Amino acid sequence: MKKIYIDPGHGGNSVGASYNGRSEQDDTLRLCLKIKELLSSQEEVEVMLSRETDTNPELETRAREANSWGADYFCSIHRNAFLPNKAAGAEIWCYSKIALGGETYSKAQRILELLCNATGFINRGVKLGAPSYTDYAVNRLTNMSSALLEVGFIDSDTDNDIFDSMFEKIAESIAMGLMEAVGLEYKVSVIVGDVDGDGKVTASDARSILRASVGLEEVPVETGDINADGKITAEDARGALRIATGLEE
Ligand SMILES: [Zn+2]
Repeated sequence: MKKIYIDPGHGGNSVGASYNGRSEQDDTLRLCLKIKELLSSQEEVEVMLSRETDTNPELETRAREANSWGADYFCSIHRNAFLPNKAAGAEIWCYSKIALGGETYSKAQRILELLCNATGFINRGVKLGAPSYTDYAVNRLTNMSSALLEVGFIDSDTDNDIFDSMFEKIAESIAMGLMEAVGLEYKVSVIVGDVDGDGKVTASDARSILRASVGLEEVPVETGDINADGKITAEDARGALRIATGLEE
């Protein structure tokens, strides 16, 4: 069993950065709860969050808890800030004393790459230390591989658009990166009939399956083959439509 410790930045009396009515502490908590939910369906992994509500544990407490729990990977999640709409993109910070290109560095790089590729966040790269001091406390005080991920700028309208419109993708890509960081593969759960991957079976999926049955569209058999006879036919389209309209499970 691998252990992933996720730290939603700020909380309680530490609001973090804020912009136009949104605050870092809320964005990080909402995102981390979603990541935890996604990871809870994965095998061979346990997840612990430093907070699951609007509280502000001391940074030392967060690090100590991860250490004593024996976490295999620690990831703190934040949102960046600069000047309104003057900077955009995601970046990830590692402990200043790690080797460039070493294990911790590569894991951080991969998490960031998966996130940016899936969402269109500008990739601002892996950075060592902290912006204006030696190290983030959570990187300095944890004794396992760790990183602090800045999921876009909270004072960038572009980044906030991505954050809100691609929330699920953001959570999923980070969950994938965290699984890789502990040497596991993230298994995407497939809903049979959900061809477009939006999490539900709709008339549009039925239409895609019908098109696939006559060769007008490519649909993977594992999602389109409703009656599990090994091929995609008009019958499957009919089944998808029945699921979409609630006539069938
Ligand atoms: Zn922060």
